[in-house]
Amino acid sequence: MPTRSPSPVPVLRDECFAVLDPATGEAFAEAPDQQPDELDAVVNRAHEAWRGWRSDSSARTPALFAAADAVEAAEADLASLLTREQGKPLSESYAEIARVAARLRYFAELDPGRQPITDGRPVHGEIRWRPLGPVGAIVPWNFPLQLASAKFAPALAAGNTVVLKPSPFTPLATRMLGSVISTALPKDVLTVVTGREPLGARLASHPGIRHVTFTGSIPTGRAVAAGAAGALARVTLELGGNDAAILLDDVDVERVADRLFWAAFRNCGQVCMAVKRVYAPARIYSQVVEALAYRAKTAVVGAGLDPDSEMGPVNNAPQLARVEGYTARALADGARAVAGGHRLDRPGYFFAPTILADVPSHSPVVTEEQFGPVLPVLPYGSLDEAVEAANGTCFGLGGSVWGTDLDRAEAVADRLECGTAWINHHAELSLAQPFAGIKESGVGVAGGLWGLHGNLRPFVVHRPKEA
Ligand code: NAD
Repeated sequence: MPTRSPSPVPVLRDECFAVLDPATGEAFAEAPDQQPDELDAVVNRAHEAWRGWRSDSSARTPALFAAADAVEAAEADLASLLTREQGKPLSESYAEIARVAARLRYFAELDPGRQPITDGRPVHGEIRWRPLGPVGAIVPWNFPLQLASAKFAPALAAGNTVVLKPSPFTPLATRMLGSVISTALPKDVLTVVTGREPLGARLASHPGIRHVTFTGSIPTGRAVAAGAAGALARVTLELGGNDAAILLDDVDVERVADRLFWAAFRNCGQVCMAVKRVYAPARIYSQVVEALAYRAKTAVVGAGLDPDSEMGPVNNAPQLARVEGYTARALADGARAVAGGHRLDRPGYFFAPTILADVPSHSPVVTEEQFGPVLPVLPYGSLDEAVEAANGTCFGLGGSVWGTDLDRAEAVADRLECGTAWINHHAELSLAQPFAGIKESGVGVAGGLWGLHGNLRPFVVHRPKEA
């Protein structure tokens, strides 16, 4: 029987844990601390519900559209709760919820179709697509609702049922979302469970789960894959990133600076696909550093519920300590904090938007994932050097190239070792595109038709052409 690890969230009583408001650091609510052994009954019910849900694909489309309508009808309550527990500005919470509804509708209409096998034999061969069974979905705290929908929308549309576990830092909006969506779905088709570890570990290794879809850090991803291996369940992992942005020497710095800054600092930098390193030509290095530092110094940081706030707090105390540690180490390594570099002197988990110049390339803020409001800017001599540095980590989620000559920028983007590359912007994803990190950033493909297929298995029928 696994034992519980020290809790990153305060335990109130045996059955509940506290949920903190990152803007104050104070508890404002509690969530059920479900025990791992409760999962047996939850997964059994998900399996029972699957029998009906998988059999009637024509009922799934209207049900998922109704679910999207229900999400939109509840957006004000969902958004304020999401901001309260996650910290992001309210406008970002609304955008996150809009994405959930859009994704439900997108997958509701996506049809995997049937494909003939044409190989000249005297039989008709046809590929049909079947759901897998109960899917276990485990998500982090940075985009609790949006990332949950990236898992449950394709899984449900494919005819699976879903057991969803949010992070214990952000359990409440997901619980509310589960209740809202469940009003449009048959019972037990989508179940939200909340609790501390080892609840996620048990879900990942549960023998009744046929696909484990996980978003989170690389170390936890490894543990999830190992757990799922015991049940020989399918695994999809969306893991950490350390995306580089390469500025070319013809870039119009003032024109791109806002976009570049927010590509790094949206959601307080807690985005898997945020710009986490900037490489600028030595000739314009100071100009780039100054342009970003100006935006860092003038960004309005405050509680997400304050309509003036452009950037909220870091979500939780351990993450704040991590961000602070990366910054301190970079400064000890010889970096300069041209903006920020410290916590804000106020309650809550606020860290000043930080631009680091003259950072040695071996400093962990460059080689690892800071996942917070700290951005190292590095100079480069030759373009080959910049591309090599951008590709020189264990990560491979996204990357971007910024310049005026789009053909030249695209030629550089083509050399990036990652799943998605952008020119003159970053981290804007289409629902219809495949989303896949390479190297240690992920296993499997989410998004678009590929994400639907990640939740389906092929079933092939051969039939003679003549009796
Ligand atoms: P995390 O790995 O600590 O936790 C993610 C989830 O796993 C949480 O729900 C957590 O409770 C659960 N968990 C913890 N231990 C577990 C275990 N042993 N078995 C199963 N589940 C377990 O990650 P985090 O700190 O919540 O999120 C930040 C990380 O997520 C960053 O590395 C970020 O890059 C990554 N992320 C990746 C993507 C992507 O799409 N690639 C998107 C968002 C975030």
